[in-house]
Amino acid sequence: MKILNVSYILQNNEVISGKSLAFEKTILKIAPLDELLQIYPDAQVIDTPANSIVMPGLINAHVHLEFSANKTHLKYGQFMPWLYSVIENREDLIEGSFEAMKKATHKMLQSGITSFGAISSHGMDLEVAEQAKQNVVFFNEVIGSQATMADALLDDFKSRLAASESIKREGFYPAVAIHSPYSVHPALIKKAIEIAWLNKYPLSAHYMESPAERQWLDKNKGEFKTFFNDLLKQDYAVNTSTGFLELFKDVPTLFTHVVHANEEEYKEIKEQGHSIIHCPISNRLLGNGSLDLDAVQKHGIRWLCATDGLSSNYTLNLFEEMKIALFMHKDANLLELAKALLNSVTIEAAQALNLNTGSIELGKNADLIVLDLEDEATEQLPIHLILQQYVISHRFINGHFVNIDE
Ligand SMILES: [Zn+2]
Repeated sequence: MKILNVSYILQNNEVISGKSLAFEKTILKIAPLDELLQIYPDAQVIDTPANSIVMPGLINAHVHLEFSANKTHLKYGQFMPWLYSVIENREDLIEGSFEAMKKATHKMLQSGITSFGAISSHGMDLEVAEQAKQNVVFFNEVIGSQATMADALLDDFKSRLAASESIKREGFYPAVAIHSPYSVHPALIKKAIEIAWLNKYPLSAHYMESPAERQWLDKNKGEFKTFFNDLLKQDYAVNTSTGFLELFKDVPTLFTHVVHANEEEYKEIKEQGHSIIHCPISNRLLGNGSLDLDAVQKHGIRWLCATDGLSSNYTLNLFEEMKIALFMHKDANLLELAKALLNSVTIEAAQALNLNTGSIELGKNADLIVLDLEDEATEQLPIHLILQQYVISHRFINGHFVNIDE
């Protein structure tokens, strides 16, 4: 049993003072320190600096660890030149990436990320994800647009999935990802969705990321036509955008990017209970534009903020990602957007990933971070949390204190 002695608790974006937290794996009681000491006289009391606040650990719902070795290899500015540069540099990026993946995971922990969703294309990140101190939702990804290859690709996917299912550590969860509508054959998509549905695994897919994707799926034209013609002698898209969404009927899914969706697609996303993952830095660097957050909110769709991988970002820091989002959506009410962003990387992300965490309430897993505010908390704290990048003094995952120097 631990008692965390703090000045403030951030609960649903409200600052609560005069209370402390008692927890083991889960949060057991929130009350004044004296009261907690009476109930739990043998608990270990953890003192924190003055003006410290405890908030839920952050959840990065979408990251590609396998491309962590990228610093300056890839071409930014437009989606297709970037994609060609990924293909060209693939070997270089993958070689020696074990250390890069470990470092990326550690840096996420340093910046307050206590859970993440790893999109794994090849399973090369499995060992790092297993050893990570964070909770990990491990999304085994299927990719491949050729019908003739579907069986072999499905077998490969199943064996990677089985490898992730064999990991039994606390806080590790297997999951399924479909790469995208342009890159996966519908027969393969159906089988992967069925596996996710049968096992109640979280499901994720990239969707409507680039203008080129919109053009290819709608009209079988544009830069993807050249790409698929040259690479696979394929001159039409394997899915339409609506046909793709229909495959996910009744299976709530996390769709990443969704920058170029139309009204009908938003409606369908809402109706089927899907969520949208917003990666503002990645969208900007790859020239994809920015998510219409206003439309997403008007449709009442749940959305999360995430970093994407280091192949399309310079950091895996959610405070930085939220800061960029705060400036990108320049017409949104500042305080309201700051609150929505904080929710998007805590409670909303936890619900979308089916994790029992993301808020400070009884029964939730004690995934917590303590920030040193250096000053008294104000009602505009959500804005300052995003802008100031406060020092994090303590991290707890599933109630365990995490030492970042180990
Ligand atoms: Zn991605």
